[in-house]
Amino acid sequence: MSLKSTIIIIEDEKSICNFIETTLISNHYKVITASTGQEGLSFVTSCFPDLVLLDLGLPDIDGIDIIKQIRSWSMIPIIVISARTQEQEKVLALDSGCDDYLTKPFGTSELLARIRTALRRHHAGGNSSASEPVYTYEDLTIDFSKRLVTLKGEEIHLTQIEYKLVSLLAKNGGRVLTYDYIINHIWGPYADNNNNQILRVNMAHIRRKLEKNPAEPNYIFTEIGVGYRMRESQP
Ligand code: CA
Repeated sequence: MSLKSTIIIIEDEKSICNFIETTLISNHYKVITASTGQEGLSFVTSCFPDLVLLDLGLPDIDGIDIIKQIRSWSMIPIIVISARTQEQEKVLALDSGCDDYLTKPFGTSELLARIRTALRRHHAGGNSSASEPVYTYEDLTIDFSKRLVTLKGEEIHLTQIEYKLVSLLAKNGGRVLTYDYIINHIWGPYADNNNNQILRVNMAHIRRKLEKNPAEPNYIFTEIGVGYRMRESQP
């Protein structure tokens, strides 16, 4: 006995909207579709959905403004689906408060995985792993209370900054964190451009310590021009 989650799709391209709608319905979601921003916003306020799938390029309102309007009163998960590949757009959407970002064309399983992650995180009250004392994915374990990172049971020695970075990413597992978001969280609001470089250097060190092959990472991924995404914890 489980209640179906309701998802609103705000997308003006009929073919994409139909494809997503069919996919979601066959995966037991309840779906509401809107082809304009105005219609979408009114459904978001009237239908109490569990998640919003949002196209950025709509005929009436810019998707970024829709994110800002929804975020002014609701923390409902928003996943942006857009043909826009410019990194700036992704960063802007994420920093405006969307939870995740998919660039068209995307696969069905990718879409469903992102939806599950966003819903899980939302139901957990923000960070999916924040309330969990331990992060685990394959060989990697992070025990937040002991500040202990182990790989195949062997302790990994991280510097203070490296540990802060890894635990921030782990607590937000499955989600892209933008460079600015990470820098603000680690170095505070007065960080400057040098911190971009310092962040990159620290991430390189972390990868050497955690990844079998740093060029093909298994735990922490680079979203080029946007930020980093760590695997979601899978106990
Ligand atoms: Ca569009």
